[in-house]
Amino acid sequence: MIGVYGGTFDPVHFGHLRAALEVYQGLRLREMRLIPCYQPPHREPPVADARARLTMLRAAVGDDTEGLKVDNREMRREGVSYMVDTLAELREELGDEPICLVLGADAFCQLHTWHRWQEILGLTHLVVTHRPGWTLDAGSLDPALAQLWREARVEAGDALAAAPAGHILQFTVTALDISATRIRAMVARGESPRFLLPEKVWNLIRLQGLYHIKRDVDEY
Ligand code: ATP
Repeated sequence: MIGVYGGTFDPVHFGHLRAALEVYQGLRLREMRLIPCYQPPHREPPVADARARLTMLRAAVGDDTEGLKVDNREMRREGVSYMVDTLAELREELGDEPICLVLGADAFCQLHTWHRWQEILGLTHLVVTHRPGWTLDAGSLDPALAQLWREARVEAGDALAAAPAGHILQFTVTALDISATRIRAMVARGESPRFLLPEKVWNLIRLQGLYHIKRDVDEY
């Protein structure tokens, strides 16, 4: 059984890495694939280009850190990165091996806005990560998504290994209130984001001059 952890990783930080590792260990996955998107469908284009985001992610996990692996298929595919296309490719490659797509609770609540979202649970399980004590209010979900949640939800991770796809599991992860947006804002203000992300990633940000506010030439 493998995990899939998609994101913009602009830049990768300890919130991503810790959640990915906890799911990898908790569900005894064979590996956890970190898949950086090329062009996210739901938001502004990333600030750092694809190559820089991939380099930072590779620096963060090395060749194979505790089962976390970087999979650059969305970058190779280019264009808008639809998760349904990525999952269809993986399903083709992996046969019947179970796949677990890891999603933050906030991302799960927007699943009904994803491209061909109703095909996703046919390709993968969903592992919805959340902070301790959080419970999902099904009443606040889109009605079709709430129905999917009620029908597909399982209480224990064992159910995931028994089928290639189709279940939804809630999974509690250590709450780390870190976001890439806040890190980019800190760097732009000239503050240090150290200890929110791996040292190697911070070194690359400095080396490549990423996330600094670009000033007009007139200002100098
Ligand atoms: P941004 O601030 O630019 O929106 P982000 O930090 O939220 O970025 P993304 O790359 O957009 O990171 O998120 C990828 C995945 O990581 C999503 O499923 C999101 O829910 C999850 N995630 C982001 N931050 C954390 C965190 N601090 N703890 C656990 N999961 C996180």
